[in-house]
Amino acid sequence: MKDLNIVPFVSVDNMMKLVLHLGPERVMTEIAGYIEADFRRWELFDKTPRVASHSDVGVIELMPTSDGEMYGFKYVNGHPKNTKEGLQTVTAFGLLAEVDTGYPILLTEMTILTALRTAAMSALAAKYLAPDGATTMAMIGNGAQAEFQALAFKAICGVTHVRLYDIDPAATAKCARNLAGFGLNVTSCRSAEEAMEGAGIITTCTADKQLATILTDNMIGSGVHINAVGGDCPGKTELHRDILLRSSIFVEYPPQTRIEGEIQQLAPDHPVIEFWQVITGATTGRTDARQITLFDSVGFAIEDFSALRYIHDQLKTLPYSQPLDMIADPDDPRDLYGMLLRAKAKAA
Ligand code: NAD
Repeated sequence: MKDLNIVPFVSVDNMMKLVLHLGPERVMTEIAGYIEADFRRWELFDKTPRVASHSDVGVIELMPTSDGEMYGFKYVNGHPKNTKEGLQTVTAFGLLAEVDTGYPILLTEMTILTALRTAAMSALAAKYLAPDGATTMAMIGNGAQAEFQALAFKAICGVTHVRLYDIDPAATAKCARNLAGFGLNVTSCRSAEEAMEGAGIITTCTADKQLATILTDNMIGSGVHINAVGGDCPGKTELHRDILLRSSIFVEYPPQTRIEGEIQQLAPDHPVIEFWQVITGATTGRTDARQITLFDSVGFAIEDFSALRYIHDQLKTLPYSQPLDMIADPDDPRDLYGMLLRAKAKAA
């Protein structure tokens, strides 16, 4: 019988070992496969907009979902001011449990895993929506997520050129340095306009707790795909509203994206397309070469569930976890207090 009170725990150290063992591009490609498979069975999942607790400086969120067999949730924060204090903007951890017993089967760091799954999700959307033959991506915002985004687009969409821009040149230099040697042609640019030259895919991944205008309407030509990652909170967006009005907008879960995504700037009934329906073939993605497609990414619980499921499956053959004595489980299930007394007697 499985020892259900011992929960495998993936520390940051073990997550790094797992990702380095398999290779980040393979991990993101495989997570994208898990997300794609879960989006195909979208309708059977429990879905709810994430539960957000806002403060003046950031947000702390819980993201739960279940497919009826497994239940998962992620704890995640978003604090744009943190980097100035030497802290991460986004940190996370998550848990997977079996519905049958309610017992956890995995506890893991999810700061790295969130970057991997966000990039995997972005590239998966672009695989369906980007214009044919788009091999150049503008990467605006070169912080913690940026290299993951670039490498996922290389592995999943065949991007060969990445053009970087950040208001902080040190972030661009860091990103260019980290991407060296991965087979990507990387250009550091001095403005968002310069970064977008020749780019069929434009990724915005900036962090600022305001209605920012990273892209204005005149910057966007016909036929491009926009992957808008950074606008993911009420009052935190990246694109000028006029771009939205010219775009076909694809979203994860509309009730959440209408609160958090770029489309918070639009009327509540503005038409959007649920991306899972593109995957199942219920609706079409890009229909012509001049269309502007926009993936209004906010990050949805099912993507984290897929990532948790992926890590759980990897641990069947890889040694990158530690046993965690996490569930109090007395021999006689009703004798929880007795377990405490026996521990006291033993300690005496
Ligand atoms: P980060 O703080 O590490 O990096 C953000 C970068 O944006 C910084 O280097 C900053 O200098 C730059 N920036 C800010 N304003 C800019 C501007 N006007 N033009 C160009 N660059 C600008 O943050 P991160 O962890 O990389 O996350 C980036 C964003 O993505 C955050 O807003 C975060 O909340 C969001 N995010 C979204 C998802 C999702 O699923 N959609 C997942 C993770 C993170």
